[in-house]
Order: sequence, then C-alpha cells, then structure tokens
Amino acid sequence: MEPWDVAVVGLGPVGGVLATLLGGRGHRVVVLERHEAPYPLPRAVHFDGEVARILQSCGLGDDLAEISEPADVYEWRSGTGAVLLRFGGRPIGPSGWPDTNMFGQPALEARIEAAARRHPNVEIRRGVSVAGLADEDGGVVLTVESTTGGDRDQLRARYVVGCDGANSTVRELIGTPVTDLGFFYDWLIVDVVLHEPRVFDPTNLQVCDPTRPTTVVSGGPGRRRWEFMRLPDETVEDLDDAAKAWSLLEAWDVTPETATLERHAVYRFHARWADRWRRGHVLLAGDAAHLMPPFAGQGMCSGLRDAANLAWKLDLVLRGRSPDALLDAYELEREQNVRAVIDFSMSLGKVICVTDEAEAAERDALFATPDGPELQPVPPLPGITTGIVAAGDPLAGQLVVQGRVADGADPPPLLDDVVGAGWLLMTVDPTVVAAVPDDLRTWFEDEGGTLVLVDDAADVDGTYRDWFSANGVAAVVQRPDFAAFGSAAGPGEVVALIESLRAALRDPAHLLSPTPTGGPR
Ligand SMILES: Cc1cc2nc3c(=O)[nH]c(=O)nc-3n(C[C@H](O)[C@H](O)[C@H](O)COP(=O)(O)OP(=O)(O)OC[C@H]3O[C@@H](n4cnc5c(N)ncnc54)[C@H](O)[C@@H]3O)c2cc1C
Repeated sequence: MEPWDVAVVGLGPVGGVLATLLGGRGHRVVVLERHEAPYPLPRAVHFDGEVARILQSCGLGDDLAEISEPADVYEWRSGTGAVLLRFGGRPIGPSGWPDTNMFGQPALEARIEAAARRHPNVEIRRGVSVAGLADEDGGVVLTVESTTGGDRDQLRARYVVGCDGANSTVRELIGTPVTDLGFFYDWLIVDVVLHEPRVFDPTNLQVCDPTRPTTVVSGGPGRRRWEFMRLPDETVEDLDDAAKAWSLLEAWDVTPETATLERHAVYRFHARWADRWRRGHVLLAGDAAHLMPPFAGQGMCSGLRDAANLAWKLDLVLRGRSPDALLDAYELEREQNVRAVIDFSMSLGKVICVTDEAEAAERDALFATPDGPELQPVPPLPGITTGIVAAGDPLAGQLVVQGRVADGADPPPLLDDVVGAGWLLMTVDPTVVAAVPDDLRTWFEDEGGTLVLVDDAADVDGTYRDWFSANGVAAVVQRPDFAAFGSAAGPGEVVALIESLRAALRDPAHLLSPTPTGGPR
C-alpha cells in the first residue's frame, strides 16, 4: 500500500492540530491514538492570542467564543492580601485575539478532532498503540497494536511525528536522552462546575500564601479551577482526596451545595525536554518533546506552536519544494523558544511555591510598592533568532500582527480568514506589489504564498498602518506560523527579500547554525 505522508502518533491537542494543518494542505495523514475515547477531564485552562490564531488557522475561529472566555486581570497576592503583581490581558492583542483565553481542554480537543475529521485525507484510528518504528527506504515502518484485541499490524509513512505526550513511546523508540532540571512540585488540581454563575474579581488569581500557595482561575465558560500546592509536611495521599478538596474549597465559599466537583487529582509538574526532537524521519512535538511547570499556562501552547512550525516545513518537504534538511530548522527554532518558556515558568514558580514564612515575607517586601503594582502587560515570548529567518533583519522571527479587514462583510473578518494562513508578502504600499517581478511572484505563489496589499480602505482599525509605520518597513514576508521571515524598507528592497526567502527554502542548511541537532540518519 502507498505510504501515508505523515503518521501522527497521539490525538491530544498537538497531534490533532498538526493533522488538521497537514490535512488542510492536502497531505495524507493517519492519526494513531491508543484510547478509544477522548480524555474527558480538564487539564490546560489557558491559551494565549498566538495560539488562538493557530486554532483559527485550523478553521476553529468561530468555535473559540463558545468554548473559551477572555480574562482581563491576573493578580498575584501575598498571604496577607497585598497585591504583588498585576498582569493585564488585552481584549484584542496583536494576534487579533485576546491575550489571555480561559477554556476547558476536553471541549477544545473535541473541536480539534472534528476539524481534523473534516479533511477526507486525514484518517483517525483510535484504539491502536504504536509499539515499534523502523526507518526504512526513505520512510518509516510503524508497528501498531490494537489496544482491545492485541492484534498487530504494520503501516508505512514518509514521516512520523510523536505527539504522544509526556510518557512518549516514540521518544523512547528513537532513544533520545531527556534533560530534567529537577524542578518539581505537587499540586492538587480541583475543577468545579458552579451551580449558579458567580463573578470572580480578578478573573485569575495567584495566592502566594506560604501556608498554602493557591491558584484560582477560570476553567472556561461555567467552570472554575483551584490548584493547591502540597505542603512539605503532607503526603500526596493526604491531598488527593475529595473530602480534602472540599475542605480547601470551603474558604472560597464553594461547597457541595453550590458546586459539583468535576475532578480532583494531584499532578507533579516537571521542567524537562528531549535533547533531540528528531531522528531520521521521526520527529517529536508537544509534551513528548518538552514539559514545563504550569505557572505560565504554556505547556499546550508550546505544543501547538510546535505543530504550526512543523506543519509548514513538512508541507514544503513533502511537496518537494524544500530538501529534508528544512526539518532540522524545526527543533532549532522551537527549542530556543521552549527553553525560554520553561525558564519563565520556573521563575514564576519560584515566586509562587514558597512555604517558608520568612522567605515569603522577604519576597513580599521586594514586590511592595506604596500604591500597589501597576498593571503590566503579559510579557511577550521571545521570537526566533536562528532558523528560517532573514539574517540581520530586526523584525525577523517576530510575530506579525493580525487585524480586521474590510471585505464587505459585517463585522469585518480577520485577515487570515480572508487570505488564508499560508506564506504572505504583506504591504500597505501599492508600489511594493508593483515591484515584484513575475518570475518571483510565480515562485512565491507556487510555494503557497499570497501577495497582500492592505490599503487604508481595507485596514478598518489601522492595525497594519500602525504596525508598518512603528517598525519603519514597507513590506514583510510572514511565514505560515505568523513569524516574520524578514522585512523590506521599500519597493527597492523587496526583490532581495523574496530572493533570500527562496535561497533559504531551497538550501536551508546555510541558515542553520549552530550545527543542527537532528539525530543520526
Ligand atoms: C493540571 C494541568 C494544567 C495545565 N494547564 C495548562 C495551561 O493552562 N495552558 C497550557 O498551555 N497547558 C497546560 N497544561 C499542559 C497541557 O495539558 C499539555 O501540554 C497538553 O495536553 C499536551 O498535549 P499533547 O497533545 O502534546 O499531549 P497529550 O494531550 O498528553 O496527548 C498525547 C496523546 O497520545 C496518546 N498516546 C500516548 N502513547 C501512545 C502510543 N504509543 N500510541 C498511540 N497513542 C499514544 C495518548 O493517549 C494521548 O491521547 C496543563 C497540564 C495539566 C496536567
């Protein structure tokens, strides 16, 4: 039988988004998931604006309003109630979505699976577990076992992506070592559905109380999440108990009369990553590649960034537009970002997970200000510095904005819904479009690119005018994962910009320094 283009192992959010993005680009994808039914319990509760845009690119833009709610303020308080930090999530951030979105993971996963199933070239097989992989003849032979009947089968794929979570079998099969920073704490996670709607102000709260560090956040529409840290003198068994959960919730006026306990579970959060995300035709993404403490709400977000980054690279390689070496850029680009996010999550954890009274008092004094802290924006994540980005360009690797554009519809749609989320050469200056010679335009369009002129009439909120003017550029090449490849100051520079993109995609190896970390071939 003809091999699948890609076998995705694991149908969590990362495998589902990757399959949807590849399916949308016409590739034949098989998704292999060991569980017969989706995982029903909540885990992640937060995704950011960039991730909302990735979900939009899967065709889920309209679903997000139903399954998530924006959060405006995330406040950190001391045990005595003093406000230590205040983060503000903008209702519309640079990606065209709220900075901070609260949701329940099962509801999102159901929408993602439905989105993947909409592509006839994507096949989802549940109840099969991947047990073996062998690199053969420029592809991979997978051994799969039925999780119900014990039958074994083999199938072939040109590439395999292990999106099989924290205890990844694929990661084990490719034999990559794992770096573990040894930073871990146990937390009791409690999800409740309130019987009556209640307003929580602020929406999201971190209580840095040394007698019980506690997180109180939205769990998406109709749900609340409490997280209680295990204290040094408690055992996991002490904490992992429904009666204990109710007793801790009492202080928040949440009782069996006012709420239903959806679940309680103790989780140990780790900070660790696979040292190699690739071996031959097998790659890793999501929790299979990295795990982080939850304090920045970035575990799943990072995995969905992996999926968006890898999807366009696999697309170009599968279509023969770029050599296989392009895939070495995946780990290089994503690992930089993930390591920074792990560091950031740990730095938040070090503020939160303090159970020593004196240490907590010292910390509180450090944050104390006479009028309380100012509302500060959620810190942006670092961009891509090494990889498929134009060398020496200050905008390269930074996220490009998304705004609403006039196309006759009311309300005006977001740009990606009009032009798609592929490669874009975007400008607010008509002379830039005229400066692109036909041969380069044809090459760019064959790559899946679109030339987009957002003039003043189309730019309903002035998003693009302001962004181009603030950055002092006339044009930008946006990658399908919304990072800038590079920019041009005017029509005179745009030809060089597209030519440098063409060189990068035809011969990516010259951009990939330091030496790519892909495994042995
Ligand atoms: C309490 C908690 C709170 C969190 N909060 C946040 C948050 O606010 N924001 C955020 O971004 N992230 C958060 N996370 C992290 C987030 O839940 C994970 O990062 C995310 O689920 C990872 O997705 P994934 O698709 O990589 O893996 P998973 O969701 O774990 O999916 C992996 C899939 O692979 C399948 N599988 C495994 N082995 C095999 C095999 N051999 N063959 C076939 N299938 C296999 C599994 O059955 C599973 O369905 C939180 C996590 C927890 C536990």
